[in-house]
Amino acid sequence: MSFNKLGLSEAILKAVSKKGYSEPSPIQQKAIPPILQGKDVLASAQTGTGKTAGFTLPMLQILSEREKSKFRPIRALVLTPTRELAAQVYANVKEYSEFLNIRSVVIFGGVNQKPQAAAIRQGVDILVATPGRLLDLESQGVLSLKRIEILVLDEADRMLDMGFLRDIERIMDKMPAKRQNLMFSATFSKDIRKLANGILHHPIQVEA
Ligand code: AMP
Repeated sequence: MSFNKLGLSEAILKAVSKKGYSEPSPIQQKAIPPILQGKDVLASAQTGTGKTAGFTLPMLQILSEREKSKFRPIRALVLTPTRELAAQVYANVKEYSEFLNIRSVVIFGGVNQKPQAAAIRQGVDILVATPGRLLDLESQGVLSLKRIEILVLDEADRMLDMGFLRDIERIMDKMPAKRQNLMFSATFSKDIRKLANGILHHPIQVEA
């Protein structure tokens, strides 16, 4: 299987080949086509499977094909449980969007929020965030989630383990109902299934 067969644009394929990947990993082969079709996806994938590119590449493709508003409202949100993961996902988003006109910003707790707020004010297409800092900045009016088109919950099981359920629910309430939802989790407990049922609409299920 080659990356060329997945329906990704030249600009994205160029970034992928710069990374030196020769072929899509199993989770990428399974997740990318339904995401590109606009479907909700529930993916079972551990770290190390290439899951980050599995949601980032099609997300970039969708956003770069759709018309942008000049105000650059946040159109995609990637929620992660920890700041380390947020920073890692953000680094990937930056690399894969090198040849696209897409702005991304990362926010997480434990550091001064002023530079994060300043970066957001310049306009953001993709925001990578941990739940607490996201809610803080939202409640201060620094950012709005009303124009979110794509939501990604990365390592959803860890988010539940860390007690983020209430925060996730509060975040959902601030987003439009019509959006594409992608959920990635290494494990599938009863609680994860319940969360998935509440968030995803007729999801395509894929496994690494
Ligand atoms: P992840 O599971 O997203 O944390 O990715 C794990 C590692 O696999 C990262 O270092 C990626 O850069 C790398 N990776 C992602 N996709 C591919 C691929 N198709 N071929 C080779 N390596 C990849």
